[in-house]
Amino acid sequence: MRELQSKIRGMDHRGYPAYKGLKGKYRFNKYELSIDHVQGDPFASPSSLSVRIAGKMAGIPEEYYKEKHRRVALEDFLLRGFAAGVEKISFQAKGSGKSGLVAASRPGQEIMERSACQVNKDNGQVLFRFAVGFPARGRSIAAEELEKILFRLLPPVVEKAGLYGNLNQKALADVVELADDQKAIRDQMKEMGLVAFVADGSVLPRESGVSERPMRNAVEFISPDSMKVVLQLPHKGECSGMGIPQGVTLIVGGGYHGKSTLLKTLEKTVYPHIIGDGREYAATDESGMKIRAEDGRSVCEEDISPFIRNLPNGKDTACFSTLDASGSTSQAANTVEAVWAGSHLLLIDEDTSATNFMIRDELMEQVIAAKKEPIVPFIKRVGQLYQEKGISTILVVGSCGAFFHVADKVIQMDRYLPKEITEEAKEAAKAFPLAMESETGKMDFLDNRSVYLPKAEERSKIKVMGTDGFSFGKKQVDLRYLEQITDSEQMLAIAKALEYLSRRYGGKKIKLSELVDDVESLLRQEGISGLCEGNVIPNMAMPRRMEIAGCINRYIKPRL
Ligand code: ADP
Ligand code: MG
Repeated sequence: MRELQSKIRGMDHRGYPAYKGLKGKYRFNKYELSIDHVQGDPFASPSSLSVRIAGKMAGIPEEYYKEKHRRVALEDFLLRGFAAGVEKISFQAKGSGKSGLVAASRPGQEIMERSACQVNKDNGQVLFRFAVGFPARGRSIAAEELEKILFRLLPPVVEKAGLYGNLNQKALADVVELADDQKAIRDQMKEMGLVAFVADGSVLPRESGVSERPMRNAVEFISPDSMKVVLQLPHKGECSGMGIPQGVTLIVGGGYHGKSTLLKTLEKTVYPHIIGDGREYAATDESGMKIRAEDGRSVCEEDISPFIRNLPNGKDTACFSTLDASGSTSQAANTVEAVWAGSHLLLIDEDTSATNFMIRDELMEQVIAAKKEPIVPFIKRVGQLYQEKGISTILVVGSCGAFFHVADKVIQMDRYLPKEITEEAKEAAKAFPLAMESETGKMDFLDNRSVYLPKAEERSKIKVMGTDGFSFGKKQVDLRYLEQITDSEQMLAIAKALEYLSRRYGGKKIKLSELVDDVESLLRQEGISGLCEGNVIPNMAMPRRMEIAGCINRYIKPRL
């Protein structure tokens, strides 16, 4: 610490690059400060720093970090505290460019593993990663301003956020207990054969289109009696709510009655949510995948023949490639890819689907014989998907009653409250028989296809565009329709996974499953920071298998 101080003082007024000499580790009273990367000039991306508080010093009870689900919740809690503290000291030191900026990750409503805060499961060491804009006057070093940040402003923030004795221990206990309850919800869902659970009293709608905070004065969720299940949670005790069983479930109802809001909740709650979110006692099968149309995406040597065949141009749909898919072919590709990636639950909203992919009505079936129509609509496959492959579907439909015939459960949203109307719907549907030739062909997916992953260009840079995608070297990867990507940190992790794979397998043809398995085992063994080489670890959040596969599928381009 003294060494760092005298180094900094000795640099005053020197040219900015002299800051590079500060790289290294320094022992402070209660933690180790590590300067991992120093920016090149005051306007460049800020410098990367980290602090490590030894387990004994941090003093966090072992039972809070031994088990993974608790540890992730603990890390999330510590990070939120640290980020709030850091925000208060940002720009208190002054100068040109980014001088004085201090920034840590700002997690959203989800609780996920993030590189910005890690607690070591063996010894309880607490690690925070953050960025600091090293201060400058013009382009020369402003030593006393950096000293102010590292010696005056930062230590109290670290000590407040990372030492158990200084934490709000009640709040932390609540967070850990919620993590237990959330895990119990998922465990019991599996035992009961449920693909989703929404607790009574949950608040589903959000404050606005741009805010993920809960809507105030919303109508609270109440399960219909017929779908009510009661879970036993270790801390909350009995927790009742709506259980959606495996199979085909429809969400129907008039416009503006809350259908999409319910589906959105299911899409989001593949991840646990924080206390106060309103959806913290809701959960969806972790492999639940939103499926939608994505006109214009590329498809590379994919077997979409379960849904599309006999194209007029004679293209082989068992090995289908395009640089510009239509609504229906893109949705077929997205469905096949989700199944391939191991999803057990498809989440579909009519609003964002290609109509001709979903359904063909009787009149159209009569006029355009099934043989002339390349598309086997989803309605013919949805039951089969469950029976043959065990893949459930939850589907929002406002306009097409034909799905009543193939549904196992029908939920009506009525003024934001769910009612179960399966029997009425089935009864009513009898008067409108489904006049479609049923599909007899088995549904085979070529699920172990090999892909050619291009070699990564030397030193190809990654630049993330929020949740829309990223650029990797000269290539743009558009992932905006992988709608469950949570934030730019998860996007960066997905990009880093692609970079890792390109370096390792670029220039070869290799099974897609091998690629995804490789990343998954890396993440399992080394955690999220395993995606990066060296000791500069940017802010990343744990991605799912589905999105990593989705990224590869959109990155590889067919050679047409
Ligand atoms: P639908 O898909 O049935 O047309 P939405 O789910 O889009 O309806 O909901 C319509 C509007 O109602 C949205 O603005 C949403 O925020 C609001 N809303 C949804 N659920 C609730 C609720 N439980 N309480 C209050 N407002 C809600
Ligand atoms: Mg809607």
